[in-house]
Amino acid sequence: MSTSTTLRAGIAAACLFIGSNVFIACQSKESVDTLVTHAVIYSADSLFNRYEAMAIKDGKIMALGTQTEIEKQYQAKDIIDAKGGSIYPGFIDAHAHFYGYAQNLTTANLFETKSWEELTTRLAQFAQEQPDGWLLGRGWDQNDWPDKQFPTNEWLNKQFPDRPVILTRVDGHAAIVNQKALDLAGLNAQTKIIGGSILLKQGKPTGVLIDNAVDRVTALIPALSASQLEKALLQAQANCFEMGITSIHDCGLSYATIETLQSMQQKQALRMRIYAMLSDEPANYQWMEKTGGIQNNFMHVAGFKVYADGALGSRGACLLKPYHDDRTNTGFLLSQVSHFDSVARYLYQKGWQMCTHAIGDSGNRTILQLYAKYLQGPNDRRWRIEHAQVVSPDDLAYFGRYQIIPSVQPTHATSDMYWAEDRLGSERIGHAYAYKNLLKENNWMPLGTDFPVEDISPFKTFYAAVVRKDAAGWPKEGFQKDQALSRKEAIWGMTHWAAKAAFEEKQKGSLEKGKWADFILLSKDLMLVPEKEILDTKVLATYIEGKKVH
Ligand SMILES: [Zn+2]
Repeated sequence: MSTSTTLRAGIAAACLFIGSNVFIACQSKESVDTLVTHAVIYSADSLFNRYEAMAIKDGKIMALGTQTEIEKQYQAKDIIDAKGGSIYPGFIDAHAHFYGYAQNLTTANLFETKSWEELTTRLAQFAQEQPDGWLLGRGWDQNDWPDKQFPTNEWLNKQFPDRPVILTRVDGHAAIVNQKALDLAGLNAQTKIIGGSILLKQGKPTGVLIDNAVDRVTALIPALSASQLEKALLQAQANCFEMGITSIHDCGLSYATIETLQSMQQKQALRMRIYAMLSDEPANYQWMEKTGGIQNNFMHVAGFKVYADGALGSRGACLLKPYHDDRTNTGFLLSQVSHFDSVARYLYQKGWQMCTHAIGDSGNRTILQLYAKYLQGPNDRRWRIEHAQVVSPDDLAYFGRYQIIPSVQPTHATSDMYWAEDRLGSERIGHAYAYKNLLKENNWMPLGTDFPVEDISPFKTFYAAVVRKDAAGWPKEGFQKDQALSRKEAIWGMTHWAAKAAFEEKQKGSLEKGKWADFILLSKDLMLVPEKEILDTKVLATYIEGKKVH
């Protein structure tokens, strides 16, 4: 094709022809796939630029500009008229457990049921949605019910004579099962179990099992079938798209799980972009050695997730001084320092990212010192500390000096604020959830949710980061309000900086020329919406590579 034909083909529609071949007043318009018009587009680029319109071709952004500029230069059959609505880059959750969340969707949620009757209603509904295999549920607590008595399994036996059922109590130390499950496990009134018991009524099992008796049944639950798993992952994806999430850092997966996710992406069933951290297991290191990781548009594997310590709620976080509400306990590290050291040395030498869960001030100090030993000074390794929840003021400077990235979850602050001071006391609480101080160290910081530990909603993350209150508006002045992020910082944390924490800022995280057209249209403008209405914000549409996925 000659140059002139090419030119003609591209510009024809916009030209005014005179005669057969001569044209004047020609405005050359380039054909693209999609135009987004009449919008308030927040690019979330480094200047936080705003635009009115955007041209998209082959899944990527061709241009951004004013309505007039874009209309003048481009044409497309597909027009997304935002009608003045606001558009942001698709949210990137920098710390979540997407696969774990999907698995949870295969279990009935029985948390906070107010009666056995409410439990049965929820379970019947769930059983319809998940009609095959074992019926699993978790979260009930008979103390929340009017009679506070353990239930019995008559209803379960009648409703599910052929399908084994196990419903685990909120603490995991008890469960109610049906007769089918008892039979499969070979449990009856005569069975003796060390470290467990089978509750009886008039000499017959009620279905309630305690401790080791529960394990006799859980040991029989088969792994999810491929089709069950696929269904759960697609549901998880749909829930995330509904919330405007287009990328997730899945923190701590086996290589086998990553391969499963990747095969679903290759079939184009899974469109979620995943930055997967491998968990700290010998088989995962071997796989990484062999494959060198994965880097394509939907799956990226370039680092490992390591656990330094546990959580604050259960007093497993490793503290420099004892817990305020348990003076004999400082928590503990989950491995010897020599283990963390050998992992750090290995990952540094290989050029892979190290992402370490650290909650307590001692857990954080141990890892910061270790990172510093290998990083030595300014670097671009982007080694991360996941959570960085309690950090001694003496250690803050490590983040800046060695360019260590704190990866934080703002809803942890507003979930834990009711009891965190009991654990830490009035002084140390001032060094906890101190996101503004952490941000100042590198001037960028990824934000996440840690779902399913927290809700998947990025709007809750934004609200917690900016407002630092619970949904009811407590506490009135905000929890440690001086540590709140600005709205702009929170948006960057959920988009641009989250992409950067996965070395992906050249492909996504902001709406800029050449990047993927992953974006969302919102019912309210997050930069302007009154504080009280932030949590009412809805995602009207979610796009990945310019294609609507919600
Ligand atoms: Zn997590």
